[in-house]
Amino acid sequence: MPATRLSDLSEADLLARLFPVYAGAKGGTADVVIGPGDDAAVLAAPGGSVVLTTDTMVRGRDWRDDWSSPHEVGHKAVVQNVADIAAMGATPTGLLVALAADPATEVDWALGLAEGIAAAAREASAPVLGGDLSSAGPGTVMVAITAVGDLGGRAAVRRDGARPGDVVAVCGTLGRSGGGLQLLLADRGRTHDAPDAMSAHRVVHDLCLAHRTAGRPPWEQGPVAADAGATSMIDLSDGLVRDLGRIARASGVGVELDGEALREHAAGPLTEALGADEAMRQVLSGGEEHSLVATFAPGEVPTGWHLLGRCTAGAPAVLVDGAVPVVTGWDHFRG
Ligand SMILES: [Mg+2]
Repeated sequence: MPATRLSDLSEADLLARLFPVYAGAKGGTADVVIGPGDDAAVLAAPGGSVVLTTDTMVRGRDWRDDWSSPHEVGHKAVVQNVADIAAMGATPTGLLVALAADPATEVDWALGLAEGIAAAAREASAPVLGGDLSSAGPGTVMVAITAVGDLGGRAAVRRDGARPGDVVAVCGTLGRSGGGLQLLLADRGRTHDAPDAMSAHRVVHDLCLAHRTAGRPPWEQGPVAADAGATSMIDLSDGLVRDLGRIARASGVGVELDGEALREHAAGPLTEALGADEAMRQVLSGGEEHSLVATFAPGEVPTGWHLLGRCTAGAPAVLVDGAVPVVTGWDHFRG
C-alpha cells in the first residue's frame, strides 16, 4: 500500500491526527488558560515576565533523513529551545510548533516528528500550546519551535555578568553530540534505521544518539544556578570555546580553562570511540551539546556542576592552560 502523503489529507484531517499526539504532552507546571484550537493560546505568566526563544531546523541542513528518524528530529528541536530557556535561569512553560513541508512528505513522518516533540515536551513539562502548518517546495521540510519560559520571580542570568575571579563550571556532558556527528560523518555511526550495521560498540551508539536527539541536558539546573547567584550563563550550542568566548566578550573578562579538567571530560566514551586527540577537540569545539555553562563567585557553585576554570581581568578570550586552543569551527560540519 502506498504511503499516505500530506497532500492526501486536508489541513483539518492532519490537525485531527496531530492534536492527540500533542495532548499527551501536557505539562505539569504550566498554567495554560487556552490551549490549541483557538486563534491563539493564552498562558499565565506567574513571574510577571515572559522568556521567549525560537529555533528553526531545516531538512538537509540541520538533520539528515538517512541518519535521523522524525522522532529524533522533533526531540532535538525541543531540546534546543528548552536549553535556551534554562540558560536564562527560567523554567519552560509552553511550546509553539510550526511545520512547513513538501506536500509529498509522508504523513507518518509528520506524526513521528510530532511524537518526538511531544516526548521532549513531556520531559520538560512544557505543553504544546499551538502552532502552524504550511506547505513548502519540493524536498523542503522546516520545523520551527518557539519556547516560552517563566523566571519564577528571579532575575534573568545574562551573558554579560561574569567578573574577574569568578569560577567557570559546566553542568552536563561535553563533546558528545559533536563526537557523534564525527562518527556519523565517518560512516562509523549508527543511524536510526541501521542500528547494528556499522558498529557493535555501545559507546558509538550512545554518541550518535546524543547527536541525533540532543539527549536530555540538565535544564532544571538553569534555575538552580540562577538561585545560586550565577553571574553569567549560556547553553552549549556552538562548542565550549566559542560559547565561552561569547561570555568573555559580553562580560569583558578573560576565561582560563584548566586542561586537566577538560581531559577528564574527554576521557571515557569519547576517547574510546574517537581517540584522545579527537575527544579533546570535541570537548573544546563540539556543538549542539546544550549542557549549561555558568560563572559563579568561588564557593557558590551548586552541587552537580563541575569546575572548568576561572575568569580573569585579561583580554576577552578563552585560553586553555594559558594558550589559545586549536578549535575547529562548528560551521564547517553543517549542511
Ligand atoms: Mg543558547
